[in-house]
Amino acid sequence: MAQRIRKGDTVVVLRGREKGKTGEVIRVIKEENRVIVKDVNLVKKHVKEIPNVREGGIYEIEAPLHISNVMLICPKCGKPTRVGIRTLMEGDTLRKYRYCKKCNENIDLIREKARVKR
Ligand SMILES: [Zn+2]
Repeated sequence: MAQRIRKGDTVVVLRGREKGKTGEVIRVIKEENRVIVKDVNLVKKHVKEIPNVREGGIYEIEAPLHISNVMLICPKCGKPTRVGIRTLMEGDTLRKYRYCKKCNENIDLIREKARVKR
């Protein structure tokens, strides 16, 4: 399945204790269908000191959120939306776009492929 949430997207959290929070996706963990959203779902982590490498202490890190618990905020209309994928033939090039199901605008190009001429 094509990836509906990508790094750099702004998403809103739909469920859980961080419900309603928005942030930028800083990492997508494809195999687990999870995303890490900047400053959202922070957990405290105790880290041991490693001499000359890092200081020990309590750090706050972002815990991953399941992709079904976040929704993209459309960069075109600014609303939380479901993302669709559509393929368009433009000239000789096949382009795959993500689009917003609210305003129907293309969000970005995710793949393009020149058609092979026979
Ligand atoms: Zn939109």
